[in-house]
Amino acid sequence: KLHNTILELKGNIRVFCRVRPAIPDSEIDDVEGPIVSYPTSTEALGRGIDLMHHAQKYSFTFDKVFTHEASQEAVFVEISQLVQSALDGYKVCIFAYGQTGSGKTYTMMGKPETPERKGLIPRSLEQIFQTSQSLQNQGWRYKMQASMLEIYNETIRDLLAPNRPASHEPSAALIKQYTIKHDSTGTTHVSDLTIVDVCSIREVSFLLQQAAQSRSVGRTQMNEQSSRSHFVFTLRISGVNESTEQQVQGVLNLIDLAGSERLAKSGSTGDRLKETQAINKSLSALSDVIFAIAKKEDHVPYRNSKLTYLLQPCLGGDSKTLMFVNVSPEASSVGESISSLRFAARVN
Ligand code: ADP
Ligand code: MG
Repeated sequence: KLHNTILELKGNIRVFCRVRPAIPDSEIDDVEGPIVSYPTSTEALGRGIDLMHHAQKYSFTFDKVFTHEASQEAVFVEISQLVQSALDGYKVCIFAYGQTGSGKTYTMMGKPETPERKGLIPRSLEQIFQTSQSLQNQGWRYKMQASMLEIYNETIRDLLAPNRPASHEPSAALIKQYTIKHDSTGTTHVSDLTIVDVCSIREVSFLLQQAAQSRSVGRTQMNEQSSRSHFVFTLRISGVNESTEQQVQGVLNLIDLAGSERLAKSGSTGDRLKETQAINKSLSALSDVIFAIAKKEDHVPYRNSKLTYLLQPCLGGDSKTLMFVNVSPEASSVGESISSLRFAARVN
């Protein structure tokens, strides 16, 4: 059976697929040979991806497909306008979805210490600060505020909190119940969340380092643990034009989602089972919300997870959403890859 899936999501929602390169040694010697190919027909060129699994071909089409050869720069070129629109007062969400090890963090953060391997977050911030500065001579004055949090087991953790508990399971006294509220202007308030005024890329870089540290503190299996939570970076942008008195309020949310791998593979029991269930719940809630928005349904089920409720004002309406589906190229991941692509294409 041939699985043909065409993405129907339209309007302000776009889905990009990115395939990471094979990692030398561990995967290059996969005996089954390449499982990923790219159709060259006119209508699918640059937008299609085919996966071979048990001698069956699975075909998907997205708004764009980046092969393993796509550089960080090439990816950023395709999203820079979207990022820019946050300065014009739009609310923007960019997600990275995929199994652990598929390249989500590489896409979002990359390796900031190597210029050509910098990811979307540092590149977006550079662009925003540069553009906001060049808009000064047209009378624009911008104020930027950053916050960074993670959602783990449906619980919010402030990654910029000054005295963050060092252990993975903080003592009861240290657990804060962060509550989420949206006011009538569509501004989100998370109680007690640290919000920092930022004026330069250096300041934000420093905060990103602090957040990365917070995420890993006290965690024995760092990679394991950080892949079990959603990371949400938010930049609020307020602009006033001194000559025209025009005002804009934009928001840029950059989200590195928890690994999408399914239950069986992670061999879940106990805490791990609870984590996996929380992740599955929030990822399917996200999918339901995006789907409802794309279908212009009257009811959008934002309240089914912390993540969708947090991002409610930035999802739907005239806000803009981009989802990256990250895919590993090796045969051993093909099941997860197909499942990720299906999630993105919303096909059962
Ligand atoms: P995830 O965040 O989805 O778990 P990572 O971003 O950590 O996955 O990627 C897994 C490994 O693959 C990392 O070592 C990362 O540097 C590498 N990697 C991922 N995507 C790319 C890419 N496009 N080019 C080069 N290396 C990549
Ligand atoms: Mg990661």
